[in-house]
Amino acid sequence: MRASSYPLVDAERALAVVLERTPVLPAEEVGLADAQGRVLAEDLVASQPLPPFPASAVDGYAFRAAGGGGRLRVVGESAAGRPFLSTLPEGAAVRILTGAVVPPGADTVVMVEDTREEDGQVLVPEGFPAGRNLYRTGDDLRQGELILPRGEPLGAAELGLAAALGLPRLRVHRRPRAALLSTGDELVEVGETPGPGQIVDSNRWALLAALREAGAEVTVLGIAPDDPEALRSLVVEALRDHEVLVTSGGVSVGSHDLVKPLLESLGRVHLGRVKLKPGKPFTFATLPEGRLAFGLPGFPVSSLVTFEVFVRPALRRLQGHRRLHRPTLPVRLGFEARAAGDRTEYQRVTLRREGGELVAETTGSQSSSRLMSLVGAHALVRVPPGDRGLPAGSVVEALILSLPG
Ligand code: AMP
Ligand code: MG
Repeated sequence: MRASSYPLVDAERALAVVLERTPVLPAEEVGLADAQGRVLAEDLVASQPLPPFPASAVDGYAFRAAGGGGRLRVVGESAAGRPFLSTLPEGAAVRILTGAVVPPGADTVVMVEDTREEDGQVLVPEGFPAGRNLYRTGDDLRQGELILPRGEPLGAAELGLAAALGLPRLRVHRRPRAALLSTGDELVEVGETPGPGQIVDSNRWALLAALREAGAEVTVLGIAPDDPEALRSLVVEALRDHEVLVTSGGVSVGSHDLVKPLLESLGRVHLGRVKLKPGKPFTFATLPEGRLAFGLPGFPVSSLVTFEVFVRPALRRLQGHRRLHRPTLPVRLGFEARAAGDRTEYQRVTLRREGGELVAETTGSQSSSRLMSLVGAHALVRVPPGDRGLPAGSVVEALILSLPG
């Protein structure tokens, strides 16, 4: 063992170091089918009004209210996609269906239930209020209106709106391409029977899911042995077409921990130790051509917590998101959260609703090897460094991963 020469950096400062060095990836144009979850790289402005024409909101009759009601001649029909093209004459009405164009000359639609049609005439109530039962051009959206500013993520409603405005392609930020590597001579593939002293590579599957959830396109490189040359060739090969390298294991100070020296030889290591629990050996480096490398600790919980604290916000920045962090909500602690000395600790909690509040309970032992501390966790509670901790009953802002049902 050798003592680590890397300074211990405050967790908040470490996040700033990561984000300061994380660029936003360039934009590309994609079809709507590929735009889900992507972030707009341009302001979307309405090139046309919505609805694009005055449209009926009901099935009924279109007429001109100022001409009065009573018996009106039915001179035709306006159906969705099959408009009545001429101007409505005096004393006439047009049978109209939901979504169809209200013809020129008409300003009101009366519902079919409020009328009676016989012998080519329709009986419309007298004094029917003008302007009823129709949408005017631009009611939903005026031409030239800003629909979505750049930096907005595209979900179902946003994609529907883009299509409604006639935009088959959108400029969005690229997704980061991430190469994922597990390191350690003790690791075997899931499904294989571990030999003496061997364990299953579980981090790969946890981090693959976390990376994808955060919007990355992931290449799994597999398991690298604790051998400097093998590790180097895998990493150098992967960096050719990936902006992000995520490794797990091999960053603590044991003699088999090879990730830091490798990253040092390839680029610049900015963080080698962080005042964070779990996740003290978290390592961050920048490599040529704006590539980023995250050396996560091997312990399963440490790798996922450091992913959450550092990698996820960085991946979101790369994709152009403006909101980089999880939402927070005030929660009341149902337990005493002890501080971890000089380190910020992210404790895993479940939440329940109680009297209009969210109450947090610990997920049990917070050991960095115990994945059960994260399984089913609704939130992370940040316990500041020091010796005070957070007493039971105190209310703190927690990072919300999911809400209880
Ligand atoms: P390291 O950071 O390489 O010293 O690993 C710390 C601990 O995490 C050791 O107990 C490793 O066996 C374990 N570990 C490392 N990599 C993985 C992995 N991919 N999946 C599960 N556990 C791992
Ligand atoms: Mg190892």
